[in-house]
Amino acid sequence: LTQGLHRSLQRHPDKPALRHLTDGGVREHSFAQLLHDTARHAAALQARGVQGGDRVALLAPNHDLLVRALFACWWLGAVACPLNVRWSAPEVAYAVEDSGAALLVVDESLAPLAQGLPLSVIDLAQWAQEAEGQSPVPDLRVGGDALAAILYTGGTTGRSKGVMLSHANFWSASMTRGAELNNAPEAVSLLVAPLFHVAGLGRLVGQTLVGGTCVTMAHFKPAAVLQAIEQHQISDMVVVPTMLQSLLDEPSFSPPRVRSLNRIAFGAAPMPPDLLRRALQAWPQAEFFQAYGLTETAGAVCINLPDNHRHPEALAQGRLNSVGRAGLGAEILIVDESGRELPPGQVGEIVVRGPMVTRGYWHLPQASADALRGGWFHTGDAGRMDAQGYLFIVDRLKDMIISGGENVYCAEVESVLRTHPLVSQAAVIGLPDPHWGEVVHAVLVPVAGTLPEQLPLQDLRDWCREQLAGYKCPRGLSLVPALPLSAAGKVLKTVLRQQLAA
Ligand code: ATP
Repeated sequence: LTQGLHRSLQRHPDKPALRHLTDGGVREHSFAQLLHDTARHAAALQARGVQGGDRVALLAPNHDLLVRALFACWWLGAVACPLNVRWSAPEVAYAVEDSGAALLVVDESLAPLAQGLPLSVIDLAQWAQEAEGQSPVPDLRVGGDALAAILYTGGTTGRSKGVMLSHANFWSASMTRGAELNNAPEAVSLLVAPLFHVAGLGRLVGQTLVGGTCVTMAHFKPAAVLQAIEQHQISDMVVVPTMLQSLLDEPSFSPPRVRSLNRIAFGAAPMPPDLLRRALQAWPQAEFFQAYGLTETAGAVCINLPDNHRHPEALAQGRLNSVGRAGLGAEILIVDESGRELPPGQVGEIVVRGPMVTRGYWHLPQASADALRGGWFHTGDAGRMDAQGYLFIVDRLKDMIISGGENVYCAEVESVLRTHPLVSQAAVIGLPDPHWGEVVHAVLVPVAGTLPEQLPLQDLRDWCREQLAGYKCPRGLSLVPALPLSAAGKVLKTVLRQQLAA
């Protein structure tokens, strides 16, 4: 993956590769500097005994130092394990132990999470200092099937698993995205998706390959993000729907301030159609791309192109809500429980094949064999595909409720609940029930200022009943001030279930 640095250095030596925005100002790194610093950081790693194939755990928010750290690992052929900064100490300890990391590199803001761990720990800034005194070491130019990263999945549906991703996986995912998105070196991309998530890491790799500029900020704070877009003339951004919503809800938002942003890619979670329409109006000049992919596919494998967001004919065919067609090099099918391909229009499991797909989960042969069957990766997502190859996500299979023998897709009920004028956010889960097996339960965040008595269960049932069969309408309701979100902005339904069971 360091090849992107060499390639961009030849073509754009003085161009900014990276700008890190802090409260105090901006730190800018040209491709030449980034490459030089990477070589010295790799030397400092080597001095600490790290060799090719060793895992290096990295715990830091998006940061220029973290970017250097990632490239330094790849320079030596080490495996980067960027960890979720929102994890608790036991979760960090689990991933460190599971990955068998030789070293943990930690940002000082997160140091308490690393206390007492049985491995050598180094502060990110201390590493940068150690690197200052080193002479650059040569790039080992490791690539192909060698492991580049182990990324721990979000844990939305259960215990986090280490997804093994090779250099070739990242490369081909970048090619797939590049072919659809036509990434250009002029792009100035704000990396708001975390670098421990495949969306952020993939964007970093893709931008470096084409010689584009990445702008990093440690935290997603809507007002600061809007300011960064305006001041740094950000041209593109990869966001999850919740980020888009918080930007649009930010009181200082105004379309002229964010006019430079002309390419917005979104994905990782279902996009509420109303929110998408709002965003399309707020950025009338921008191209929108919807992406569907997983950690296990090194990012997007399916992309819905801008025309399908604005062109009347595409809109008339309902393509606004599609995640698009399989990207270059990715094959996607809808299959039934025995793995047989289903005809267009039928709902089944989405399976993916291609050079971007993981070889499996770290140290979990059974989970790997369950997920990769006959060369196809089983996503655990339910979807349907139309005759033109447009894919529509129906729900996560694990998120499906079976109530009285009927399948209820939570995403469908959530989208109806969200259209209620007093509902701001909605999550639907199945709760155990002696009679029905499971019953549909809605967890809602009301619009600010709404009193609980203004949102009785019966009103919501009536609202849903106008559009949904009776068995899909919620039988239980909880009103909450906020939904528990993962660091990638997804609703943590495991946490909701635990809270409701308590
Ligand atoms: P875990 O797998 O542990 O539950 P996670 O959900 O965070 O964690 P990721 O690999 O980050 O795992 O996310 C992949 C999932 O995100 C997909 O399986 C799909 O359910 C969802 N997803 C991705 N893109 C989209 C999209 N455009 N629309 C709807 N859902 C999406």
